[in-house]
Amino acid sequence: MPPRPLIIPIFIPHQGCPHRCIFCDQHAITAETAPASTQIQLETRIAEHLATAGRDRGPAQVAFYGGNFLGLPRRTLTALLEGLQPWLDRGQIAGIRFSTRPDTITAERLAWIAPYPIETVELGVQSMNEVVLDRSKRGHTAADARRAMEQLQTKGYQTGIQLMLGLPGDTARRALTSARAVAALGPDFVRIYPTLVLAGSALASAFTAGEYTPLTLTEALDQAAMLVRLFHQHRIGVIRIGLQAAEGLEDPAVVLGGPHHPAFGHLVYAQLYRAAAHRLLAQLQPLPQAPTIYAPPHEISRLLGHKKANLDSLRRMFARPRLRLAAQEGLACETLRCADRTQSIWQPD
Ligand code: SF4
Repeated sequence: MPPRPLIIPIFIPHQGCPHRCIFCDQHAITAETAPASTQIQLETRIAEHLATAGRDRGPAQVAFYGGNFLGLPRRTLTALLEGLQPWLDRGQIAGIRFSTRPDTITAERLAWIAPYPIETVELGVQSMNEVVLDRSKRGHTAADARRAMEQLQTKGYQTGIQLMLGLPGDTARRALTSARAVAALGPDFVRIYPTLVLAGSALASAFTAGEYTPLTLTEALDQAAMLVRLFHQHRIGVIRIGLQAAEGLEDPAVVLGGPHHPAFGHLVYAQLYRAAAHRLLAQLQPLPQAPTIYAPPHEISRLLGHKKANLDSLRRMFARPRLRLAAQEGLACETLRCADRTQSIWQPD
């Protein structure tokens, strides 16, 4: 496998946004207060990341996140891209990526960025359901997302799509339909985020007024696991599930509600591994008194679950207090084994 690229994030909180979406507060989720719009700020961030990166890393990419990059005025956008030229010339940065709204992808704006080595564009699609988009005050439609993807793919960009779970008006069924519509667009990867109620957002007012009920952690995990499975079927990589840990997110004065968990992505995978272990044990006739389920060594933490919750749950469910979960070299990735049977974690329940 080629080494993963070193992503150097440059946060541009809310810059280029036409308005504030109902759920959003980039200052809270990135813990960034100042826009990184000057050369000095770029220099500091890039130098820090290059100095601390491991030797086995892949090529470095600068990523503009936290705002609507293509919505920036042309002068600001060009200044940011031009500012990267010294590192590009020295070969210290190999490419650029950014996130943006679907409705800012226009032929004119794509022409602005054409001279620069932009490799990847991430679209904040959030949902493909019109009711959800409308109630979340996104200000764009699912058709905008389709148009944007078509334009980006025609230009040869690598594309990613960000989806959210539990937005106002969303349901598990709508989330699945949305994810199917996203899969049909053929992005190279997706990110999945549960909606949190962030203080100061319009969603916080609706939450306080009792007009919005966030997903519980269990509901969010179930929906995320369902989507991860779907994208796997379509061979679309899920590169992130849940927000990156940030100090502010642990503060109850910042996150007022919603299914926040610092290990959200791990919990989703732990759920998929637990379900596979469950299927495997259910097939064993008779079930041994002390069965051992094996996973590849680099996946054993997912099989064990958060704080070994899967071990406890499987022992209880199958009344096998001596059940063990262990690592085994040579097992295929994402496969579990018990006795002479194997089980893929991707097989439907
Ligand atoms: S979700 Fe995106 S477009 Fe909306 S306010 Fe946040 S950064 Fe801006």
